[in-house]
Formats: sequence, C-alpha cells, structure tokens
Amino acid sequence: MRLSRLLPLLAAPLAASSVALTAYLSLSTWQGEVRAGQASQAVEQLRRALAAAEMVSRERGPTNGMLGDDLPAPAESIQALADARARTDRAWSALAQELPDLAARSMRSDSIARLDAARSALQAARAEVDRTASRPKDQRTPQAIGAAVRDMVALVPRLAPLVSLLANEAQQSLPELGDDVQGARLTAELREYAGLLGSQFTAALTRRGRFSSGERLAIERTRGRVDELRFLLELRVQQPRHTAEVLRAWSQVQEHYFVAASHLVQRVITAGESDGDFGLDPAQFADQYVPEMNVMFGLRDALLQHAVMKADAERDRARRLIALVGAVSLALLLGVAVGIALVNRRVLRPLAGTAEALTALAQNELDAPLPRPQADDEMAAVIGAVHTLRQQTQRREELEQERDDLIERLREQSNSDFLTGLPNRRAFHVAAERELARARRHGYAVTAMLFDIDNFKSFNDRLGHAAGDRALTDVAQVVRREMRAGDLVGRYGGEEFVLLLSHCERERGLQFAERLRAAIAATPIGCASETVVPCTVSIGVTDSIQHGLALETLLSKADSAMYRAKQGGRNRVEFAPVNSPAQASDEATSN
Ligand code: GH3
Ligand code: MG
Ligand code: MG
Repeated sequence: MRLSRLLPLLAAPLAASSVALTAYLSLSTWQGEVRAGQASQAVEQLRRALAAAEMVSRERGPTNGMLGDDLPAPAESIQALADARARTDRAWSALAQELPDLAARSMRSDSIARLDAARSALQAARAEVDRTASRPKDQRTPQAIGAAVRDMVALVPRLAPLVSLLANEAQQSLPELGDDVQGARLTAELREYAGLLGSQFTAALTRRGRFSSGERLAIERTRGRVDELRFLLELRVQQPRHTAEVLRAWSQVQEHYFVAASHLVQRVITAGESDGDFGLDPAQFADQYVPEMNVMFGLRDALLQHAVMKADAERDRARRLIALVGAVSLALLLGVAVGIALVNRRVLRPLAGTAEALTALAQNELDAPLPRPQADDEMAAVIGAVHTLRQQTQRREELEQERDDLIERLREQSNSDFLTGLPNRRAFHVAAERELARARRHGYAVTAMLFDIDNFKSFNDRLGHAAGDRALTDVAQVVRREMRAGDLVGRYGGEEFVLLLSHCERERGLQFAERLRAAIAATPIGCASETVVPCTVSIGVTDSIQHGLALETLLSKADSAMYRAKQGGRNRVEFAPVNSPAQASDEATSN
C-alpha cells in the first residue's frame, strides 16, 4: 500500500482514540461540573431554609417581649413584632419559591406540603400569641404563655427535615462540602437551642419567681444539647483548612455566646434556682442575650459561603479541565493532520516526483522535471543526488556523442584521400564491390575507367611539388563536377584516378571519358603559378558487357586501355580491346 494512503489509515485510529478519550474525559468532568452546580444550588437553598428558620427564631424575641408587656402594648413592641413577622414571611416565601425546583429534582414532593403545613402552623402560633398577649398581664397564666412560646418554638423543628434534605443533597453532590454544610446546619441548630434556652427563662422572668421543677428539667436538657452541639461544631470548624472568615466567626461565637452569654445564662439560672430575683425582666434579658447569640448567624453564613466558594471552585476546575482536555485533543488532532500534510508535502510528493525522474533517467529522458526541494532537509539531499546523477549522465552522453563523432570522422579520414578529399583506393574498392554486386543482382551494366595525368613528373619538376599537389586537387574537382550522383570515384594512387559508372555501357562510358578528358585539358591547372601549364590525362575505359563484373578484371582491362592511350600519344581515351570469344567465355566463367 502506498505510504500516502497508509499514513492517514494509521492516523485515523489515533485521531478516533483521541476523540473518544476527550469525549469520555469531558463527559465525566462535565458530570462533576454539573454535580458541583447542583451542590452550589443546594447550598443556596439550604441558606434560604436556614434563613427561614432564623427568621422564625428571631420573631420569638419580639413575641416574648409582647407576651411580657403590660396592656396597652407599647407601640414600638407592636412595630417590632410586625417587622419581625414581615421578615419571616419574606424568608418563607423565598424558600417556597425554591421548592418546586427542589421537589422536581429530589422527588421529595412532600416537602412542599410540609412547608405549607409549617406555614399554617406559623399562622396558628401567631394567632395564639396574639390571643394571649391581648389579655391583661395578670390574666396571662404561665401555662398560657408557655403554650404560646412552645407553639412558636415548635415551628423550627418542622423545617428540620427540609434542612437535612438540602444539606444531604449538597453533601452527596460534592462530598467535600460535608463539613461546611453540616457545620452550618449544626450552627443553626445551636442558635435554635440557644434561643430555646432563652425562651425557657421567659415564664420565670415574667413572674419573677423560682423555676418550677419542669422548667429546671427542660433548661438542663436544652443546656445539655447546646453543649453537645458545641462539641460537634468544634469538630467541624476547628480545622486549619478553614478560611480566616470561618475561624474568625467561630472565635466570635465562642467569645460572645460561650463566654458572655454563658455568664448571663448562669446568672439567671443561679437566681432561678434560689430566690427568683433575676434583676431583669424578659425584655432586658432578651436585649442582652439575643445579640450575643445572634453572632452564630455569622458563623453559619461564613460556613455556607465557604461551601459555595468550594463548589464554585470545583465548577471552575471542571470547566478548566474540560477546556484543557479539549485543547490538548485539538492540538493532538492538529498535530496529526499537520504531520501528515508535512510528510506528504516534504517527503511523499517529492519522493514520487524523484522516482518519476529516476525512471525517466533510466529511459534516457534527461529533461524530465525534478521536484523542487521544500526545505533544506534529507529529501533535498536525495533530490540533489538525483540532480547530480542526471548531470553526470548528461555529461557521459555528450562524451559518448563526441566519441562517436570522432570515430565517424576517423573512419571518414581513413577512407578518404588527404589531398584531394576523394575516397582512397581501399574505400573505392569496398564501394565498387558493393555496386558490382548490385549490378549483378539487378543485371545492369557498369563502366570502369582509369586515368593518369600525362607527364606529371616533369610537371612536378618544373613547377614544384606544391603545384603538383594543387594540380591533383584541381583534377579531382573537375572529376567531381563532371560525374553523376551515384557514380564512384577514387584516387587510385600517385596521379592515377579510378571511376565506376553505374547503368552505363561502352558508348556512354566513352562519351563521358571524352568529356572528362576535354574538361581537364581545358581547365587551367596549377593556376597559382604564373605560367599555366597544360595538364592532360590519358583514360582507359572498359565495360561490364565486354569484360564482366569482376572488379580486378575490369580494372586490369582499363589499365591496359590506359596504357594504350599513353602509347598512342597521351591526352586521349582508349577502350579496352573487345575480348575474343574464347577470352569472353573464360571471363564469363570467372564471374
Ligand atoms: P606519363 O605521362 O608516362 O605518365 O609520365 P609521368 O611523368 O606522369 O610518369 P611517372 O609515373 O614516371 O611520374 C609520376 C610522377 O607523379 C612521379 C611523382 O613525382 C608524381 N607524383 C605522384 N604522386 C604525387 C603527389 O602526390 N604529388 C605530387 N606533386 N606529385 C606526385
Ligand atoms: Mg603514373
Ligand atoms: Mg603520369
């Protein structure tokens, strides 16, 4: 399989695993984010539930004041109670708005019914308070006051299941919030019991008398629960990992409630157990006691704030993690894609181009394009090497061409005469044999002739050897001019030349010889010298019809004819004597 296909195939499972891993991590982190959001919401709802309980607790202050006041009740007491009730109603309405959502989520739809029942109980308790307070003070029996106070006190425990539900939900969604939400719940409970303890003094403070045994028992129980709650709270709050706000709020609670308020409580209890001379009425007690007690709300709020902070931090952490996982996965995918693209661009494509160029080189196509290197890398080195190889091949080809040209030139030189440029005797022989073979095959006649320059020795002697050379060249030129294309000529040796005319028999051969002789005789030979010396030739002619197609025979006959021409006075043409029948049959046999 080609690498360009294999690479994406290998990268695909990597990319798929990366996407799957990202999806898995994102999903699980997202679930954590959702749980942290739910925890944050549950803490917010817990805050509202605790605020609802707080307001109903706070309402007990003005309620107790009202129950202890003479008639007509002072305007400020009536106003204080009205304000307190309005605050309670607002807090309960805010909680009621949250409940549908809570009910849908936790499927505790009975929580709405419970809150409705608690609100009805609140209205009933308030009516009872109003009824009791509307009687003249001396007609308010301790039992009636106690019953009215108890009804108010009983309202907070009605909210307890809802508070527990919300605290548990926050803790289940994010277990790290456990200490904070349970701490806030315990703080609220501690505040409630501290309030209860204060309420339990109201009847004795109103009548300025000793505690009954029932009152003492109830007070001791409440103090025991307060101590227990303090211990439980200490376990959750006194930890170094808590924020400065929480630790500060806790030390405030210790300082104000467990030191200052505790002294006040101890004083009241001591008086209530002896002569009942408390030295303060319920309103004065409440004025001193309630502010010390209310610092607990600060601790509760600090703990809830801490829980919300942790939940939000967890959400942020989850979101950052999702972003990080997404970014890493994206970077990985991008890296794979860029890697494949890079390998393709810088390796595979140049490699394919180089392979094509090498194939072309092997087929001697030297101008096939080479890929352009993309960078100064290993691939560039490969392309460079192929480029060098191609240049060397090109150079070798050129050298081979030069060598072939040289061989051809040498071959031509070895076949031609240096002076006249005509084929030499050997080359003439080769060409003539080939022509005679053709003539034999196709049955046409040829004419052979030899000619020799007359008295050339004396020509040389008189005009010099150089002039002799020029004369030879001139004669050769005349021959070239006169002969037809396809006829053969050669310098036979010295000042002798040979010719072989194709498709030519005696008559036309003699005509040609005569024309040649006349042309040479008419040409001013050796014109470089001042004296133009006549230069003539004697020509011996023979043809294949008379003498057959054997080259040696033809030349020997032509030579004899030329001899006769010399003998006959030179500057003439002679035909080789016709054979006797006996000679002709001999020669025919030799052919
Ligand atoms: P004939 O008419 O009987 O042929 O007389 P000739 O003087 O031509 O006869 P011969 O064969 O005795 O002389 C040939 C001369 O040709 C001799 C030689 O000096 C001259 N010759 C042969 N080859 C060359 C050559 O290449 N250059 C020159 N300049 N002379 C040559
Ligand atoms: Mg000669
Ligand atoms: Mg001669």
